[in-house]
Amino acid sequence: MSSFPHAPLALCAVFRGPSTCLHYRIPEGLAGTDLVGRRVLVPLGYREAVALVVALEESGLEESIRGTLKDIRAVVDEEALLPPDVLALCRWMSAYYFHPLPSVLEAVFPSNLLAHPHRRYRLTAEGRTALLQGPRGEPKTVGARDVESALLGRDALDVKDLETFPKGWKAHIKRLESLGWVTWDYAWPSLEPSTKREKVVVLREEPPEKRLSASPHLRRFVTVLRDSGGTCPLSDLRRQVSQASYWVRKLAAEGFIALEEREVLRESPMAQALEPSPPFELTPEQKAAMEAIEGVVVSPSFKPFVLYGVTGSGKTEIYLQLVEKTVALGRTALVLVPEIALSTQLEGLFRARFGETLTVWHSALASGVRDDQWRKMTSGRTAVILGVRSAVLSPVKNLGLIIVDEEHDSSYKQEERLRYHARDVAVMRARMTNIPVILGSATPSLQSFHHGRTGRYTLVTLFKRVEDRPLPHIHIVDMRRHRGPFRVISPELHKALEETLESDGQAMLFLNRRGFASFFLCRACGAVLQCPHCAVSLTYHQSLQGVLCHYCGHEEPVPGACPLCAKGVMIPFGFGTERVEEELRQKFPQVKTLRVDRDAMTCPAKLVRSLDAFRSRKAHVMVGTQMITKGHDFPHVTLVGVINADTSLQISDFRSGETTAQLLMQVAGRAGRGEKPGRVVIQTYNPHHYVIQAAATLDYGHFCEHELATRRTLQYPPFTRMARLLVTGPQQTPTAHAAAELGRIARETKAVLESQGMPLAVLGPAPAPLQKLKKRFRYNLYVKAWRAEDLQAFVEKILQGVSKAGGFEAVHVAVDRDPVSSL
Ligand code: ADP
Ligand code: ZN
Repeated sequence: MSSFPHAPLALCAVFRGPSTCLHYRIPEGLAGTDLVGRRVLVPLGYREAVALVVALEESGLEESIRGTLKDIRAVVDEEALLPPDVLALCRWMSAYYFHPLPSVLEAVFPSNLLAHPHRRYRLTAEGRTALLQGPRGEPKTVGARDVESALLGRDALDVKDLETFPKGWKAHIKRLESLGWVTWDYAWPSLEPSTKREKVVVLREEPPEKRLSASPHLRRFVTVLRDSGGTCPLSDLRRQVSQASYWVRKLAAEGFIALEEREVLRESPMAQALEPSPPFELTPEQKAAMEAIEGVVVSPSFKPFVLYGVTGSGKTEIYLQLVEKTVALGRTALVLVPEIALSTQLEGLFRARFGETLTVWHSALASGVRDDQWRKMTSGRTAVILGVRSAVLSPVKNLGLIIVDEEHDSSYKQEERLRYHARDVAVMRARMTNIPVILGSATPSLQSFHHGRTGRYTLVTLFKRVEDRPLPHIHIVDMRRHRGPFRVISPELHKALEETLESDGQAMLFLNRRGFASFFLCRACGAVLQCPHCAVSLTYHQSLQGVLCHYCGHEEPVPGACPLCAKGVMIPFGFGTERVEEELRQKFPQVKTLRVDRDAMTCPAKLVRSLDAFRSRKAHVMVGTQMITKGHDFPHVTLVGVINADTSLQISDFRSGETTAQLLMQVAGRAGRGEKPGRVVIQTYNPHHYVIQAAATLDYGHFCEHELATRRTLQYPPFTRMARLLVTGPQQTPTAHAAAELGRIARETKAVLESQGMPLAVLGPAPAPLQKLKKRFRYNLYVKAWRAEDLQAFVEKILQGVSKAGGFEAVHVAVDRDPVSSL
């Protein structure tokens, strides 16, 4: 007997169901089984749904409510799908980011695990005998006979197959079921292995030397097999040895080899071709960093580090060696990178050291590959995970170390649905799992920098580049002095390009805007061509011969005349990466250029090919957007040009200084990483702006001190905690009213909580900088607190207020906690 007055209830997150978790009773047959983390089938209204058991609760529910609860119908999995720490992390994310737990879990699982089962019908022994005895009783329709012969012809018949039969099959199946001739069970798509198998040849015994010397093909066959450790995929042998099929047949018959089948895990390697580097002799700074960190890697406990190392200081080698230590001790390491372009660079390095135990995780994986890699992680065959944002929730047990590379990068922040920051989640995972976490960057986020300075995180600094290579020389170009043809490439940058190309170096040109022209302006009335769905101007793309919305993808041909006044000619203004590439072609016709931005890189494979081509110096100049700024290590790049340093300064956000400084110092850091020193040309219309001045000195630490002082004065994060409440709706007036009502609720709540001694602030509501996006109007309301738990309570109370108030039926209120973007 349990010591509790009641048997525990299962708290279930129903997939594709309601946003709150529901309680179900555990039927007697399952009492005592640990169902947490397993999928179950539960009744939901008139239907059945798949759910994940998130907890067993000895519930304090009232008896009357308890009586209305329903039983779990079936258990799907034999063991938990998620390790307990990942499930706990998901629950934390749900609470912290104010997002329904079922939806958090839906983001974690591959979609095949969320799929609903279908029924599978089969004949009972009695049914089979009866049907085989032939017709009986009343005459049957053609449809009924078809169903019967299909049942006789197969072991089991899926409901999907039955649906192709003429109408009336359902009634007939029901009839057969009532006779006891047919039974059914569930078919779980996710449980049926979608694995790929391959044939492998296994060497049992080597044929005698006499035979080998008689046939060079046979010798080669045996050598290849021996060199691959005695087991080799048949397809590889076929590729490397002529007449392989003949020898397989012959040797198998003679018993020298065996032909077996094994499961292969689909993988989609997307590594850049990097020269394998010998293990480096660590520099003194690298050594000191290793010493500061490795103790807690060897015997893990929660400890966050900020690895602040200038560009080219050799952080990657430190990551590799720390991961090696983790793996050697039988634990798993998780390495996060902000985007695919960077994972393709690191994949080569990591694969060289960790081989088949590496799992790479990003959005470009095909679903079959994704399933296999998921299985690889859950079955404990993964020792190292290299992945983007969502990999922070990798279902691996015994995690021993988390590394977040380029931790300042805003790609870690998801800006839709579940608005989480993978770096912050990584720190929480490390804390829950009690392991170290390393946040690496040449330009740490102010938040991490601040934690490092105040001792909450341990700051480990690399001040110098490896082999004492100098940081690049920075040259600021005042663009106010240049007109006409020099607006894109100034004479200074032109000269630097000439010198670089003459001395056989490579150059990277950066502009944070794709397309050819930024917008079209009517010469007569001054109207700007706008997206019909978003409050933004359309960008001209020469390659498309049309204009494009960068937010919703809306595309239209270039207008002949102004759509507003119908008189004026539309002329393009501003410029993007396409235009820079064109200018280059005109000015340096003999030079090979490459463009890397979202338009040119239609698929990840193409991105890898381009980066490879640049690395092997098949191209001299690479033009790109922020895709090219982060992390890349191209040793022959000696010149970096920033075409317009002002683009991100103009955004009205308290973070624009931080992001611009990071961007400029990162892009500058791509220059002079090899033996030759580098230089950077920064073109700007604000040469005296403090951010541009800071970039010129490359003194990020100094910049941070200055910026933090300002943030403290204005009481912005990291000195306070903020959340953005984003109200969106299809119509402007109701959305504006809802935003105003939200503001009222927030201020009312603030008054109540402040009387209980909780200092809070409310800012807004105001139209979001992007007032309209994808046909929805948008308003921002900011709330601020001085402690995380106050913010939690505040937002919770506001949301409760919203759920009780009227006027929110036609709008959506999203919570963006620790917002990165104000757009
Ligand atoms: P970061 O990530 O800090 O910008 P990387 O890790 O990319 O820098 O290292 C910069 C370059 O220095 C790489 O080409 C790397 O191979 C090389 N490198 C790293 N450590 C050493 C070392 N100890 N000795 C020589 N070269 C090194
Ligand atoms: Zn649009």
